[in-house]
Amino acid sequence: MGQNVYNPFESAQIQFDRVADKINLDSSVRELLREPSREYHFTIPVKMDDGTTKVFKGYRIQHNDARGPAKGGIRFHPHETADTVRALSMWMTWKCAVVDIPLGGGKGGVICDPRNLSQGEQERLCRGYIRQIARNIGPVTDVPAPDVMTNAQHMLWMMDEYEVITGGKYPGTITGKPVGMGGSLGRKEATGYGVIYTLREALKSLNIDIAKTSASIQGFGNVAEYAARLYTVMGGKIIAISCWDNNDKKAYTFRNKDGFDIEKMAAIKDSFGTIDKEKAIAMGAEVLDGGEWISQEVDILLPCALENQINASNFDQINSSVKVICEGANGPTAPDCDNLIMERDIFLVPDFLCNAGGVTCSYFEQVQNNMNYYWTKEEVLEKLDSKMTSAFQAVYQLAREKNLYMRDAAYVIAINRVAEAVKLRGWV
Ligand code: GLU
Repeated sequence: MGQNVYNPFESAQIQFDRVADKINLDSSVRELLREPSREYHFTIPVKMDDGTTKVFKGYRIQHNDARGPAKGGIRFHPHETADTVRALSMWMTWKCAVVDIPLGGGKGGVICDPRNLSQGEQERLCRGYIRQIARNIGPVTDVPAPDVMTNAQHMLWMMDEYEVITGGKYPGTITGKPVGMGGSLGRKEATGYGVIYTLREALKSLNIDIAKTSASIQGFGNVAEYAARLYTVMGGKIIAISCWDNNDKKAYTFRNKDGFDIEKMAAIKDSFGTIDKEKAIAMGAEVLDGGEWISQEVDILLPCALENQINASNFDQINSSVKVICEGANGPTAPDCDNLIMERDIFLVPDFLCNAGGVTCSYFEQVQNNMNYYWTKEEVLEKLDSKMTSAFQAVYQLAREKNLYMRDAAYVIAINRVAEAVKLRGWV
């Protein structure tokens, strides 16, 4: 499968079918789980600053809610498609199931580029999105959150619009809100930290000292930044960071063979994860082509950007030094690379396990909203680490016992939990 014909929903179905075959999943359960339960496609008219009206296309897709309300982010991206949102909603179902939180899977998206929208236009887009979907989401049905290029401010505008429409206070309608406005301490760090909790466990199982490792990271948005921060606190060295440059409309890889000071790099990035090239050069970084993050001589690759970033066209560029791939992004690896990863004996921490820290903390946020009582950051992070570590260990143990690839082991656990829920409810 080449880059041009990549379809994330097909990839999600290929991954699912492969494990459904292995576990002899009932045909009716299989039929139900390989498609989303519900889809909403809508238009969002937005008054632009110049007085014109622009119509954006929005989606909310609920893959499965047998284990609890659908849960998952809303992405703002110019290349968003219905199939991307379908795939992401399906991966959310497996993500919530593998960490065993009582939530289902959903996802939303808007075809837009927030980098080219003013704050006012972004606010009206968020409010317009909620006006179109308010009757189909809510704290007990489907709970959105941030994702690619959406943030806490977007979530707050959305929650406010929902509360205006419904006339009540429902902070549990949406997660990833600002702290002090119903948000949870630790939510900002949660996805990236979760990636590193699973990396720490993976390295332990391989008998590798994290403080002696180096990594190359793709992306420098929220997930990548906090993953890089915690990894360097644990002693690792990030020697390459690749990110999109919105001025040059291309990606660059920044390299510092001595390891980056992540605090300093975070200080020269914008809110969408673009690193200021001139400032990075002034700080001694080499500037390489965007794709070169994958070929660096490192122990660990951390794809923390978008889907389909490791595929048949670049897999052979992965350096022979690489021992672990931790998928911080959703769907960063095309399915035809799974056999290659196994052949090269690279340890994989699959996406819906690796990046489950965000939704796990979203679940904690909802719990705190329901209690109307808020935990300390230490308490949140301790609970997060414990949830991520036990999910990793369960997948790892199954992979060892049954000699399964880590992605397949994670799918076996997740699919079995969701299959049991749909059967217990009598849906099939
Ligand atoms: N968008 C994040 C993800 O893909 C978080 C979802 C959530 O918190 O609901 O996991």
